Amino acid sequence: MKPFHIFNTLSRTVEEFRPLDPPNVSLYSCGPTVYLPQHLGNMRAFLFVDALKRALRLSGYRVRHVMNITDVGHMTSDEDAGEDKIEKTARAEGKTPREVADHYTTLFLRDADMLAIERPDVLCRATDHIADMVRLIERILEHGYAYVTPSGVYFDVEKWRGPSRVGRLSRQSLDEQYAGQRLEHSPDKKSPHDFALWVLNQPRHLMQWDSPWGRGYPGWHIECSAMSMKYLGETIDIHTGGTDHIPVHHENEIAQSESATGQPFVRYFVHNAFLVEKEGTKISKSAGKFPLLSDLVASGIHPLAFRLLCFGAKYRSEIVFNDEAIRAAQKNFEYFAEFARTLGDVEAGAPQDSAWAGEYRERFVEALNNDLNTPQALAVALELVAEAYRRDDRRVWNTLSELDSVLGLDLAGLRKAVRAAELPPEVARLIEERQAARRDRNYKLADELRRRLEELGYEVRDTRDSSSYVPKAV
Ligand SMILES: [Zn+2]
Repeated sequence: MKPFHIFNTLSRTVEEFRPLDPPNVSLYSCGPTVYLPQHLGNMRAFLFVDALKRALRLSGYRVRHVMNITDVGHMTSDEDAGEDKIEKTARAEGKTPREVADHYTTLFLRDADMLAIERPDVLCRATDHIADMVRLIERILEHGYAYVTPSGVYFDVEKWRGPSRVGRLSRQSLDEQYAGQRLEHSPDKKSPHDFALWVLNQPRHLMQWDSPWGRGYPGWHIECSAMSMKYLGETIDIHTGGTDHIPVHHENEIAQSESATGQPFVRYFVHNAFLVEKEGTKISKSAGKFPLLSDLVASGIHPLAFRLLCFGAKYRSEIVFNDEAIRAAQKNFEYFAEFARTLGDVEAGAPQDSAWAGEYRERFVEALNNDLNTPQALAVALELVAEAYRRDDRRVWNTLSELDSVLGLDLAGLRKAVRAAELPPEVARLIEERQAARRDRNYKLADELRRRLEELGYEVRDTRDSSSYVPKAV
């Protein structure tokens, strides 16, 4: 494992990352609320987590990643007020909440796949974990940090925070945190800052479950505490989410989890900044129309160009999204893709890299391990390709494909596609025959096929386990 550094919102500093049980890393991410398509701003958060996971892996860590799907309890306001988002869509579309959740989960996963976002090890939906949430609420009640009322079970925020009333993550007092907001104040709450763990007596709510306190449904925050503990244990290494989660959602997750277990909940909270249309404006649903991945694709942009756009910015910086930025990212994507195509088809394990390429891997890893500096890492990858062109030396594939394990452009897949699409059928057939001959150790036939391929203008290079077939320089 290489030393990895990351900005921890808890300490407000870049810290050396020390997982509890190296090289294993437990990682929990707040996932989508599935009541609308996820727009590009939402997808940025998941691209950030994907880059973090892949960078940790490149440095020798083994990441176990859990992400939730919110399909109940997330109200139209993050502070428990308004209507359940899923149910609101269900009523509008004349569907059941489950149908709404299934539909938008499928759309989300389709977009995630197109962006080459790896699936988490566990993708868990809130409605499948109601019993875990009920048990956790019972533990919080046992420890005296929650109280039961006719309208629900509430978390006692002031008792938890103590006399300073300052949040550990947001570093704001309750008054600062809610300044200027009119909090929906249920008369049952001891303080307007208290939040619902379990909601009771809402007959209009479609999704209801039995609980020791009566039929009802969970608050939004409790699901993340319950599911992260279930799959990753009481203390997790990294918890991710957007910076909008800092003051309410994550603050509440810490309060619920630690009041139940008495253990630290999260060692490193890592938050990503937003995608903005112009400086300062978040692309959000309330701002009206916002772009979806399908909008980009319809305008001729490759999905992985958006991946590169996000990779080209620090996760803690806003990304300004506009035509110019996405077109520049598309150019970078094409630059890599074109280079990969010029390498022709290679089975894994191509010829050894030239010695000069090694330095690029080191610099790439170093950039990522320095607070996930993806723009710098991207610059190193672009430089590697430029240098290969400059030297007219393409023996960099092993390095480039390792870099691509984090970039996520599937350059190996592009090379395979080239073979399928662009190799003349006769050449493709000879290559296949030759590979079969080598597998059968029929070297006489392999040599003969090599000569025929060379006559057709292909350079054949063999290593112990594989062969490459590169069109001779034109
Ligand atoms: Zn969450």
